[in-house]
Amino acid sequence: MKIILLGAPGSGKGTLAKKISKDFDIPQISTGDLFRAIVKEDSELASKVREIMQSGGLVPDEVTIEIVKERIAKDDCKKGFILDGFPRTVNQAKALEGISQIDTVILVDLANEIIIDRLSARRTCPNCGEIYSVQDNLENVCKKCNSPLIQRDDDKPETIRHRLEVYEQNTSPLINFYSDRIFKVSSAGSPEETYSPVKTFLSEMEGKVE
Ligand code: ADP
Ligand code: ZN
Repeated sequence: MKIILLGAPGSGKGTLAKKISKDFDIPQISTGDLFRAIVKEDSELASKVREIMQSGGLVPDEVTIEIVKERIAKDDCKKGFILDGFPRTVNQAKALEGISQIDTVILVDLANEIIIDRLSARRTCPNCGEIYSVQDNLENVCKKCNSPLIQRDDDKPETIRHRLEVYEQNTSPLINFYSDRIFKVSSAGSPEETYSPVKTFLSEMEGKVE
């Protein structure tokens, strides 16, 4: 199954992607994670991407499309994959059409006020990528690998607002682009409540695609 997760930053795409990936045994491809890995390198591309990410803007389409294309070509994607954070522009979506045939697009829906609250409280494990909320992890240490948690630079209030604007402008038009393939779910509840209808939907679809 080839799945796209669509939704604003902080809507819970990443959390949902991890659950789908585990249950359906397909890799989660997060362009945000791919870029965070690139930024750690010492290269011209790394410093360019670092600057863009810190401002909350988008990495240029050519760079992003190339990185996704390479990732999808790997062996573990043969059975399918979950795209988390890609495509983010109509241009990227059009390029993807030439790379792969997507089965379904899951739209993760959440009001902006809740997004701002959740992102401000979000803490991330710099080692394994696990996500926590300040109030649920007072020790501020990753429960999986014991690394001290950090607040991502782009989870600071000013940047969050800018990321939401960028989403509204560049990414929300994709809802129209994919209108024939969208399954919409609200992520206002718990991660389990969000996942439940998605799991049912994907289980039914799994029989039909393959
Ligand atoms: P979130 O979805 O929480 O905003 P991500 O981890 O998906 O965060 O992405 C972090 C940053 O990486 C984005 O703000 C952007 O700068 C860059 N990025 C990720 N995916 C893309 C993409 N498809 N196109 C352009 N830039 C991207
Ligand atoms: Zn960890």
